Amino acid sequence: MIAKYLFFTGGVVSSVGKGVTAAATGLLLKERGFKVAVQKLDPYINVDPGTMSPYQHGEVYVLDDGAETDLDLGHYERFIDIRLSRSSNFTSGQVYAEIISKERRGDFLGGTIQVIPHITNEIKRRVLGNAKETGADVVIVEVGGTVGDIESQPFLEVLRQLRNEVGRENVFFIHVTWLPYIKATGEIKTKPTQHSVVELRAIGISPSMIIARSDYPVDGEICDKIALFCDVEKNAVVPMVTSDSLYEVPLLLEDAGMSDYLVERLNLKAARQANMKPWRELVERARKPKPTVKIALVGKYVELQDAYMSVRESLHHAAIANDVEVEINWVHAAELEKDKEWDVIRNADGILTPGGFGARGVEGKIAAARYARENKVPYLGLCLGMQVMCIDFARGVLNYEDANSSEFDRSAKYPVIDLMSEQHSITDMGGTMRLGLYTCELQAGTKAAKAYGEKRVEERHRHRFEFNNTYRKIFEDAGMVFSGVSPDGSLVEIVEIKEHPFMLGCQFHPEFLSRPMRPHPLFMEFIRAAKKEKR
Ligand code: GLN
Repeated sequence: MIAKYLFFTGGVVSSVGKGVTAAATGLLLKERGFKVAVQKLDPYINVDPGTMSPYQHGEVYVLDDGAETDLDLGHYERFIDIRLSRSSNFTSGQVYAEIISKERRGDFLGGTIQVIPHITNEIKRRVLGNAKETGADVVIVEVGGTVGDIESQPFLEVLRQLRNEVGRENVFFIHVTWLPYIKATGEIKTKPTQHSVVELRAIGISPSMIIARSDYPVDGEICDKIALFCDVEKNAVVPMVTSDSLYEVPLLLEDAGMSDYLVERLNLKAARQANMKPWRELVERARKPKPTVKIALVGKYVELQDAYMSVRESLHHAAIANDVEVEINWVHAAELEKDKEWDVIRNADGILTPGGFGARGVEGKIAAARYARENKVPYLGLCLGMQVMCIDFARGVLNYEDANSSEFDRSAKYPVIDLMSEQHSITDMGGTMRLGLYTCELQAGTKAAKAYGEKRVEERHRHRFEFNNTYRKIFEDAGMVFSGVSPDGSLVEIVEIKEHPFMLGCQFHPEFLSRPMRPHPLFMEFIRAAKKEKR
């Protein structure tokens, strides 16, 4: 069939859940029997978010092919349960870099390079290219930012042009807006939504559907008003009240008749009925009161929880499957160094240290690993979390007092974590880490092998440093198990401590492969251990 395009734009303010909405829509259409592709267009100038601070951007989500992408791709993969590739996310920076390198090569000799048509054509090429590459029936394209931003204009212009190129009957514009609530009068306001639609129309786009986000219940009258002022059909106004679980969003959309409307409007003849029963059961299971397991999450960017989005979601997936509620208590690693926030660690049923870069807070993370080891508290270390677990082991068990990673101390006497050999000659910061899917072989009889129930697994990576093989034998003799290594044996992928209920670290990022219906085995085992050891 000819691909249908669903374009998601945002209005009024950002951070209202446009990505989750796009992801949930993808799930509904997949459930109706269509092959769905999804793509995020980011208007900023960075080539990718890999070099941006988590404070600026939130989590960097890594794909199989090693692309460092926007965190919305995590929502897409988790909701739709697909594996995306590099072409599913691009930025203005990538588009400009491509056009400028062509210009230098002489591809446009004699011409003036302009936003329209050169930049817009490159954007178009990437949107159509991804649609073709995936062979999808329905292509969801989300434009980052908010309508009215100067930098997103070329992207919106492309959506406008595509309407004629792929046929009006094949495109559908979904505008996600925000309805503010005025406390003094107890009213929900539609005016910002109206203004944002005016802004969109000025570019030549009329929305086909409006998803109106709100913290408060939205009644029929409000929807009628939006329909009238924004010139959309009444049943194309979908109110979406903030819910306590992200995974409820597809159900809210389905119950509001969204997929029926899309099927009709886009003339999706082959549609079958959606079977949302498994999702309903998942949400019910998540909602049901259950015993709570407390997890201390020791990080550097904990005031911005978006920085650990996939870790948080993975904990929830594993908790639902283990029939517990997970209470995530965020700990600033740097505060532990000042003897603060230790009560959170002491009250925890499990300690998780996620990935990170740079020296700030690292001593706090090492101290948290020590606490977990000495007090036999279940511990899961992801990437840097594995590295600090090894540093603690060297210092605490082997008495290598100044053991460290050469990332933090170049002259450490015992660099138990060291730069990977292929990294020595690298000077560029962007896209140069060990990135993406690599195979890991598991040693039979270990906790890791038991968790996975497999001999070989493939996991996503993002790191420059690794366990220093000089110390393998000494660590092993002292009770550390190298339960996962690369197929040639040269890179340590998983470590665990033998005499401990569950203390495991992995060099990769399991959080990128956990799905609501298929929790990641390492998170499963971690939560299971925390539940069992619960004091
Ligand atoms: N900074 C460490 C490294 O580069 C860990 C990276 C991470 O946690 N993603 O190896």
